[in-house]
Amino acid sequence: MSRGLLIILSGPSGVGKGTIRQYFESNARLNLAYSTSMTTRKPRNKEVDGKDYFFTTREKFQEAIKKGELLEYAEFVGNFYGTPLSEVERLRDEGKNVLLEIEVQGAKQVQEKCPDAISIFIIPPSMEELEKRIRGRKSEPEEVIQERLAKAANEMKMVPNYKYIVCNDDPKLAAELIETIILRHIELEEN
Ligand code: 5GP
Repeated sequence: MSRGLLIILSGPSGVGKGTIRQYFESNARLNLAYSTSMTTRKPRNKEVDGKDYFFTTREKFQEAIKKGELLEYAEFVGNFYGTPLSEVERLRDEGKNVLLEIEVQGAKQVQEKCPDAISIFIIPPSMEELEKRIRGRKSEPEEVIQERLAKAANEMKMVPNYKYIVCNDDPKLAAELIETIILRHIELEEN
């Protein structure tokens, strides 16, 4: 059995990564495992600890960094986010293709450590549409929204670092394109 692929999925906050993922993660042919990140951010309304994120304190997060327990980590709009290394390794050793839904600084760290990682960046159809989607979540104060929008504009500058760019005009179509990319890489790995 060969080791699973490592897939990086990035895109500005609010672009619809979670929605797209829901369309393709149940596709058994992709043999995917989603890597649950650790974060110091507070849970949003329907988020579940251990499923959406491992919600933790800044102290525990710092400790994980010190112990070298994270594959990558980054600070994003005042909170820390990171990928637990042991889980990613375990899943890949089991032959699962591991999906990391992470922002651009973390993606850069993963690309440096794992040059074989498949990187995909999801772009919005326009920045106006992105703002509409972020405001539509109605879960954050105006200053955080402004910060996320400024961050999004900056993140878009990192697009050239990614191997594949997918526009989320329609989440189902975007998911189908991502499926095609992953299936192609699985095929390449097998041959
Ligand atoms: P949100 O607060 O909207 O859930 O996430 C904010 C940003 O952090 C998103 O771009 C999301 O993809 C990213 N993110 C989530 N988990 C991780 C992680 O483990 N590492 C890094 N670097 N970014 C993450």
